[in-house]
Amino acid sequence: KLCLERIEKVDAKVEAFLEVFEDALDTAKEIDKKILSGENLPDLAGIPMGIKDNICMEGKKVTCASKMLENFVSPYDATVVERLKKNGAVILGRLNMDEFAMGSSTENSAFKKTRNPYDLERVPGGSSGGSAAAVAAGEVYYSLGSDTGGSIRQPASLCGVVGFKPTYGRVSRYGLVAFASSLDQIGPFTRDVEDAALVLNAICGKDDKDSTSKDVAVEDFTTYLNKSLKGVKVGLPKEYFGEGIDDGVKKEIEKAIEVLKDLGAEVKQISLPMSQYALSVYYILASSEASSNLARFDGIRYGYRAKDFEDIIDLYVKSRSQGFGSEVKRRIMLGTYALSSGYYDAYYKKALKVKTLIINEFKKAFEDVNLIVSPTSPSVAFKFGEKSSDPLKMYLSDICTVPVNIAGLPAVSVPVGFSDNLPVGLQIIGNYFKEGEIISLAHGIE
Ligand code: GLN
Repeated sequence: KLCLERIEKVDAKVEAFLEVFEDALDTAKEIDKKILSGENLPDLAGIPMGIKDNICMEGKKVTCASKMLENFVSPYDATVVERLKKNGAVILGRLNMDEFAMGSSTENSAFKKTRNPYDLERVPGGSSGGSAAAVAAGEVYYSLGSDTGGSIRQPASLCGVVGFKPTYGRVSRYGLVAFASSLDQIGPFTRDVEDAALVLNAICGKDDKDSTSKDVAVEDFTTYLNKSLKGVKVGLPKEYFGEGIDDGVKKEIEKAIEVLKDLGAEVKQISLPMSQYALSVYYILASSEASSNLARFDGIRYGYRAKDFEDIIDLYVKSRSQGFGSEVKRRIMLGTYALSSGYYDAYYKKALKVKTLIINEFKKAFEDVNLIVSPTSPSVAFKFGEKSSDPLKMYLSDICTVPVNIAGLPAVSVPVGFSDNLPVGLQIIGNYFKEGEIISLAHGIE
């Protein structure tokens, strides 16, 4: 009730929700009954949360903030939703996002503008802007988002909350509407690191319905809280502190690094020169996969269908032209081009080769250090319209986050300070399946 009241009070301004579920209170009452009857329930029982609108929940709409899926109702639960339900979570509603998770400001939603709770004139980041803003505005205790190139960490940074992208394969993607399947991962937004550990406990682990999910033991992540940081080796990649990072952001990150040193961490400079190619590689691979994944939205099998059409080709063309927004169309065109015969070798195949170089460089770095830290976002929350007219400018928002997805590594954004009264997030990157080590450092610094 408290959360629903809070939503009632602030969501007209923040506009994080695309839908608040009417039956949420009934679910909560059912769970209350179990608690009162003495049943021993898991950690998340009865706690209100929200999901990004690209995660399927049986009997509920899942729109990806696109006109294409405006009235599409999911016939099944995503594995994460199934696991949350088993944990007694109370799912309050669907949260706004950039259309099909493409964007860094949530301005690409077909339905509404989500505002940054710290300054309503500014964006919450994206693409999981609704998920970040809802937690920051106190509308829910936690939420789920998806991160393909930074869509959990960047909005978490801009909204002053914790955002965790697990290792690729850690969390099942079954029931997550695919954007770029080799990069997508689901993860939590929380108010603090302890809550992130609790949510990860609930959602991580092998799932037979996702062939890319990995059978790696899921430890109790809360055992990594309150750990000594003495002797933990932390690398600062010099390429992530250079040109393009705002001075105000740099200053807060440098302060955070001093705190890490005070806590006993051994901080040293490292170099990841291949990172300069990450953005190019990302926008080729992500767009290529998107162009293939989004081919299913043809006006026949799913979602929106144009009203007047002459023949089947005309139906495809009109449905897709009218159903998709301009950023989605841009990605489909870029991806189709990069995959087409004659260009495949020069773009897609080349990007895959550079991806391998990026992976190898991270692997080498982790022979020397336990964790790598950097700014999450090159700037604090920006104003509406500031970058939306220039796609390249918008793409630069992802400069610190995309290398992590390309390599499939886990990383968190944790709030460490303010610049011009706007939150700044520190990104902590770990080695494969070392979410626990990330939690220790993040908990130390928060
Ligand atoms: N901003 C990036 C993009 O537009 C990342 C999106 C994401 O992680 N879903 O592709």
